Amino acid sequence: MIKEIGIGAILAVFIFLLFQGINLMPLIFFFGMLGAVYYLTQNGIIARKNYKNISKRDGIITFNEIGGQKTAKKELLEALDFIINEEKIKGLGIRPLKGILLIGPPGTGKTLMAKAAANYIDSVFITASGSEFIEMYAGVGAQRVRQLFKTAREEALKKEKSNAVIFIDEIDVLAGRRGQHQSHLEYDQTLNQLLVEMDGISVDDQVRLLLIGATNRPEILDPAIMRPGRFDRVVKVDLPDKEGRIHILKLHTKNKPLDSDVDLEIIAKETFGFSGAHLESLTNEAAILALRENKNKIQQKHFLEAVDKVIMGEKLDRKPKKDELYRVAVHETGHAIISEVVRPGSVSAITITSRGNALGYMRQTPEDDMYLYTKKYIENQIAVCMAGACAEQLIIGDKSTGSSNDFEQAVKLAKKIIFSGLSSLGVVDKENVSSKTIHNETKAILKKQEIFVNSVLEKNASVINKLVNILLDQEKIGGAQFKKLLKEIQRTKIKDYEIEERIIY
Ligand code: ATP
Repeated sequence: MIKEIGIGAILAVFIFLLFQGINLMPLIFFFGMLGAVYYLTQNGIIARKNYKNISKRDGIITFNEIGGQKTAKKELLEALDFIINEEKIKGLGIRPLKGILLIGPPGTGKTLMAKAAANYIDSVFITASGSEFIEMYAGVGAQRVRQLFKTAREEALKKEKSNAVIFIDEIDVLAGRRGQHQSHLEYDQTLNQLLVEMDGISVDDQVRLLLIGATNRPEILDPAIMRPGRFDRVVKVDLPDKEGRIHILKLHTKNKPLDSDVDLEIIAKETFGFSGAHLESLTNEAAILALRENKNKIQQKHFLEAVDKVIMGEKLDRKPKKDELYRVAVHETGHAIISEVVRPGSVSAITITSRGNALGYMRQTPEDDMYLYTKKYIENQIAVCMAGACAEQLIIGDKSTGSSNDFEQAVKLAKKIIFSGLSSLGVVDKENVSSKTIHNETKAILKKQEIFVNSVLEKNASVINKLVNILLDQEKIGGAQFKKLLKEIQRTKIKDYEIEERIIY
């Protein structure tokens, strides 16, 4: 608004002076120059971009504050010791380590690692994100890369440090394969400049620079950046395993009052696939839930509810109609019964509370961390997916759109069986197998599980009805209560239901 008024006022003055017969050329030239300088400054061509030096501002991070990640920390520390023992390195004629690349899913602690690394080698820490270097104007990104390295050197000298760590998050944005972007000249120039700056790092520099890059997509990086002499070390920062999750939970609950019933090991078991950032959010949500209930200590139930919240989102006020709610209860009970049959004790909670996009859900307790899956395991998961729709059909007499996500998931799992060479097709080449063959095999895999699920549910229709009534009454059934209620179910062994040649191809 102020800008518009200013422009209007200047124009009015110009017109007034013109009518007075004053020569405006010098003034126009002056304002033109001013405009050009402003434009270049805005685009980072003239002005020095203020890269954040966050080592002081954000508090110092040490490796002790990073949970799990034992291997990643070990590898990183080993690389950093190279820098600390500089004299020894020089003596042996070893070239300095110029770059370390941290790869892994979002929220696993890559930024924390870089900050801790800067602290470990007592250096300044300059941070930037790959997207900051991408501009439409050729040359701007390259100029920013030069500026970043210059800022790092200057900051280190100012703070009388002999090392500087430059951290570039989302480095894939800046260092993706060359020649792939529409405005590839600008992208290529920026990456070339980064390569030039990295090549310029030497042991004899007054300030020793270390570039730490982080990415979730290492596969798209330009091979030039990965060649020896640039990012020499690639450190994988993966999702934490159970031990790692316990460690992270302990770190993030250190400043929170916990009730005596809290068992972090159980929470860690329930949170397979959570990143450090998820776990941090979980502890925070649990504390908020305790506050809402006016409790001054966080209880186990708050953590368990926070798990649902982190996975599914906040509870919604949306209230489905009575018959819809009944259908949701039947659907979720179907999932839960089959989950219990294929893996006793696996139901963690069933609820008909709307969260995120779901009207209800059944949460399974993950088994101990698994990295390999057998055919039987995947088939069981397919059965659990199919069970919601099967229960609707059995109890209500028809199915609904509520099962579309389940079916999508089931098809994905069936394809996993096929492409892992575990189906009746044997080992298949994805490229050469027809979509009809895949379709038929997928159908057969799903059909086999559907028959199994129907046979279990039919035998347990009365149990489903009882559970549905309890669920409608309570909105949620916890894992322990579910188990108790299910004592009535005659445990069905999967092998009793092996399907013979009835499968329809
Ligand atoms: P992105 O790839 O999205 O940039 P990242 O891997 O850099 O993510 P961080 O920014 O380091 O993730 O982590 C985000 C937050 O998650 C941290 O501030 C911290 O609270 C928590 N966190 C992540 N990993 C860990 C961990 N290993 N130990 C403790 N806290 C963690």
